[in-house]
Amino acid sequence: MSMNREGRPTKPDSAGEAGEAQTWTGNRALMLEEPLIFEMDEDIGTGVDFDEAPKVASRLGGLERNRPIGIPGLSEPQAVRHYTRLSRQNYAIDLGLFPLGSCTMKHNPRLNERMARLPGFADIHPLQPVDTVQGALELIAELGGWLVKLTGMHSVAMSPKAGAHGELCGLLAIRAALEARGDAREVILVPESAHGTNPATAAFVGYRVESIPANERGRVDLDALKGRLGPDVAAVMITNPNTCGLFEPDMIAISEAVHAAGGLVYCDGANFNAIVGRVRPGDLGIDAMHINLHKTFSTPHGGGGPGSGPVVFSEALTPFAPLPFVEQQGDHFVLVEEETAGEHHASSFGRMTAFHGQMGMFTRALSYILSHGADGLRQVSGDAVLNANYILRSLEDVLEAPFGESGPCMHEALFSDKGFAEGLSTLDLAKGLIDEGFHPMTMYFPLVVHGAMLVEPTETESKAALDQFIGALRSVAERAKAGDESLKAAPVHAPRRRLDETQAARKPVLVWKPPVQAEAAE
Ligand SMILES: *Cc1c(COP(=O)(O)O)cnc(C)c1O
Repeated sequence: MSMNREGRPTKPDSAGEAGEAQTWTGNRALMLEEPLIFEMDEDIGTGVDFDEAPKVASRLGGLERNRPIGIPGLSEPQAVRHYTRLSRQNYAIDLGLFPLGSCTMKHNPRLNERMARLPGFADIHPLQPVDTVQGALELIAELGGWLVKLTGMHSVAMSPKAGAHGELCGLLAIRAALEARGDAREVILVPESAHGTNPATAAFVGYRVESIPANERGRVDLDALKGRLGPDVAAVMITNPNTCGLFEPDMIAISEAVHAAGGLVYCDGANFNAIVGRVRPGDLGIDAMHINLHKTFSTPHGGGGPGSGPVVFSEALTPFAPLPFVEQQGDHFVLVEEETAGEHHASSFGRMTAFHGQMGMFTRALSYILSHGADGLRQVSGDAVLNANYILRSLEDVLEAPFGESGPCMHEALFSDKGFAEGLSTLDLAKGLIDEGFHPMTMYFPLVVHGAMLVEPTETESKAALDQFIGALRSVAERAKAGDESLKAAPVHAPRRRLDETQAARKPVLVWKPPVQAEAAE
């Protein structure tokens, strides 16, 4: 086996472990083994013939490259095959159900892609004179108008580029509002079940983070929250529906208590897809909330594309929102780039990004919204919740559902590892699911449930697809409960077996070095 300089094998020795007949190539029919691109380097330089570079005087002041850049030399067909082969070892929403809870991996309508590629949206530059991009600005304004209307809020900042970036935007506006009234506070309260980005954002803005416990029904413990409120609490960050897949029914009481104590309410709106068209966060007393366009309004994400996290604001926070804003003046759209006396930006905290946000995502999201219409969006949330409850009720006889007794879930179903045989874990079940041809669900999150499994089917799955997934999960769960030790070896049918995920996360090897054997032969 060839080893790299760290003494790690450059290829897992997995096919043999599976006890399968070995092929001469290592390929298994359509499952093709593929080396690293560096291992395929044939030293041909490049697949493209360039003319000899003309001799010019260097102006790099002695900083010229003095050794080869180290890019592997492959011909075009070799490069095409390499990436096509790798793509076939990957899982994608276009291949099957992708039950990753909290991530909303739903079908991305191709119509959105078509719209995003229209040259008037795709081939423009943010520094173009605004008179030449009126259509693009109108699109941003129209999408913003939908987001304000759907959330019942007062204004929207379109520039944040992901959910976590939206959280940062919301907290910066909250900080600016508190500082403007001469009341800088130090603490942000975050529920135990929150997405990791919430405490990370609060800490990044310079706040001290304190956690609020959950009650036995998986919701924010209102009494504990009220007990902690005081003159040092700047804001709470509440996810609703929360990351246990449950609606926070006390949201109005939470907002009222926080406001009475002089704080502000940030809502993590990443799960808006469960309530869109049914609940308006503005009616719940929320001051700022981000919306993940890439989740609720369906754009490719998670390795497939960028995110976009517009933030909607209450009237009180609107003057502190970031620049720029698109504003309609008559039938003309202008980009407000500086603080003026206008209501939208009188005391803006500044800019989130160099330009206006993710134009491609805006186009896809508006295309999604317009093709669904208001009634279609309402059906989206209804179907997402229906599908999650179908999974919850179909599996609760075999998998423990920690909050199943307290009523239906929202858009995702939460299970725990209670009842698994000694020595078998959520991780083993997830690996077993890979052998069944599914991407695993979100595991070990939220932290409030032991061995958590968070399943979000989304509304775009058919009943047949849900039934197949339920059958697969039931079969693997039964093996975990029966103590089937073979699960510990799963996945056995995947291109790779179990990897050392801790090593990969803690000590990622990001630079390829030639294998030791090849060096010794030189
Ligand atoms: C996805 C998600 C986020 C973060 O959004 P990104 O776009 O990945 O930055 C935050 N909170 C919750 C609950 C989420 O599901």
